Amino acid sequence: MFSNLHAQHQDKVDFIHAEVNIRPLVDQKAIEGSVVYRFKVFQNVDSVFLDAQDMKFSAVLVNHKKASFKVSKTKITVYKNFKKNRSYSLTLEYSAKPRQTVYFLGGDDLLSGRQIWTQGQGKYTSHWLPSFDDMTEKVEFDLNISFNPKYEVIANGKLRKYKESDSLKTWSYDMQNPMSSYLLAFVIGQYDKQELISENGLPIENYFYPKDSLKVEPTYRYTKKIFDFLENEIGKPYPWQNYKQIPVKDFLYAGMENTGTTIFSDAFIIDSVAFIDKNYVNVNAHELAHQWFGNLVTEKDGQHHWLHEGFATYYAYLTEKEIFGDDYFYWKLFDTAQQLNERSKADKGEALTDPKASSLTFYEKGAWSLVMLRNEIGDVAFKKGIKNYLEKYQFQNVTIDDFLGEMELAANLNLGPFKQLWLSSSVFPIEKVTDYLSENSSSVGAFIQLKWDLTTSLKNKKDIIDKYWKESDNEEFKARLVSKYHKQLSPDIIKSAFDSKSIKVRQALALTSARIPTDFKMEYESLLEDKSYITMESALYRLWISFPHDRHRYLDKTKGIIGLPNKNVRLLWLLLASLTKDYDNDSKEGYLAELHGYTSPRYSMEIRQGAFGLITDVLHYTDQNILDLIDATTHHSWQFRKYARGLLDNELKVDQQRNRIIELTKGLNDAKLRYIKTKLNSE
Ligand SMILES: [Zn+2]
Repeated sequence: MFSNLHAQHQDKVDFIHAEVNIRPLVDQKAIEGSVVYRFKVFQNVDSVFLDAQDMKFSAVLVNHKKASFKVSKTKITVYKNFKKNRSYSLTLEYSAKPRQTVYFLGGDDLLSGRQIWTQGQGKYTSHWLPSFDDMTEKVEFDLNISFNPKYEVIANGKLRKYKESDSLKTWSYDMQNPMSSYLLAFVIGQYDKQELISENGLPIENYFYPKDSLKVEPTYRYTKKIFDFLENEIGKPYPWQNYKQIPVKDFLYAGMENTGTTIFSDAFIIDSVAFIDKNYVNVNAHELAHQWFGNLVTEKDGQHHWLHEGFATYYAYLTEKEIFGDDYFYWKLFDTAQQLNERSKADKGEALTDPKASSLTFYEKGAWSLVMLRNEIGDVAFKKGIKNYLEKYQFQNVTIDDFLGEMELAANLNLGPFKQLWLSSSVFPIEKVTDYLSENSSSVGAFIQLKWDLTTSLKNKKDIIDKYWKESDNEEFKARLVSKYHKQLSPDIIKSAFDSKSIKVRQALALTSARIPTDFKMEYESLLEDKSYITMESALYRLWISFPHDRHRYLDKTKGIIGLPNKNVRLLWLLLASLTKDYDNDSKEGYLAELHGYTSPRYSMEIRQGAFGLITDVLHYTDQNILDLIDATTHHSWQFRKYARGLLDNELKVDQQRNRIIELTKGLNDAKLRYIKTKLNSE
């Protein structure tokens, strides 16, 4: 209720502009800042408030004069008789020690160098700037950030100017349009950039670590195409002054669509071999689509979250269809339909209007509903409706009904039944979806038919599969067939799959759990040469297990291959090399040391998790591994933290390990011991 009272207050004032000055202090992990807000008053009020988490204020001025104010743990309220139809300026000087939202990484010992970056959605920008946790307050924010000139500072908007002294440089970024506070962002780190220009002349900046210059092309492949495609497809020009993409270490999500300034996980920085298994294209398109759906038009509240995630997911799929072809699109939809149907059948389906729905619902059911809406009203009406919706509500907040209203006008149709079926209902309409897929994709259709034939026909299953295999020349279909029915494949099919030269089909063979038949030994060995790190990793492991006499040969063949950004091939190789009798005995200790070393915070959480996993399963923790594990129990990523806590909990159950851990933690600082102390005390 308390916040409601305030929210009503806030309706009577409108914050227009903010000039923000901040200085991140690395040693204290703190922010020193000031902000000048300009706001208009629509009705007489005696106070205004801003969200401000744990902040200390050294000056509070209204129209440059000292004002009285009150600070709570989460807010600052400023008192004055604000008069109707007047504009005011509010100056706040403050310091903050953000517990979240701003992440200070490093030391210079990090491979990626020292980094400072923000994540506002779900974490609240009010931890580093007095601002508005409510998405409906949109402000034109101009950020000035001062830091060590050795680094790059990237923030929303257009870089207007620098000001530099010996030890401090100020980067001034200019925005021309308003946004919700959660979309404010900055990144500080060591970066170079690739500059592109879109078809319409808009600057696109792709940032990268200086050491990764050779990975720029595969990482950012298709960026210009994605940009031009989305701008055309959506039908409304990209709404901001420029577009920047910045990778950071140990990011909390795949990517975040801050206005004009997407931050994404550096686990997407890849070489061209990795491209086939893991690339940035989907995230690239998804975050870009949010620049319209989320940033230009923003949900009023969580009940309308479909308008963000469903749309970004849908437009990313359309983009992939453009780049990778129809098949890619329909197979992806096929996969998500299976997942959604499983949930729905188990009575765990969710309505898209439920603000507490899962990501699967908001993203995948959300995308499906747009596929089906377009199918129902046709391309022309769909595109017209989207364009009108964006134009009518630009820089404002929206509801699902606002959107449907525009679509109804464009299509001249009542979309009540659509809303009921797709948005309000928790059931996933699988029949409609299956019909749609069968009509639009012959290969997905054939796969659905195959499944049907296998369950209903009395014919020999192997014969049915053989027939479908021979009739299809579709790569994706064949890969699926291998994955799903590998136990029923005839030797002829296996042979033909190996001979297909398709990385995807051959990868499906590499990933099946079936024993390697001796007849196919040579074919399996050829998988070690495929241009896919997932194929290589799986083939190396399976060959090593199956043919002990040839282990040296397999290891020699894959020596020096690193793999995906999580070093999947290298980690496995180090483990196998250290376990293989008489293999490279002089280097064995070095291999083990390298593997044990990858649990260090110097490396990304993906690499660390891989190393912890292998060591836990097969080897023994060194003292340093245990210290690294304790470090990981307070990591800012909850998934990684949870993983590390699980491992540590298991160790603590063994008395001997427990005592060793207690011994090792002596002399560690308290922040790192936050988890382990509560754990030890609670038992
Ligand atoms: Zn998203």
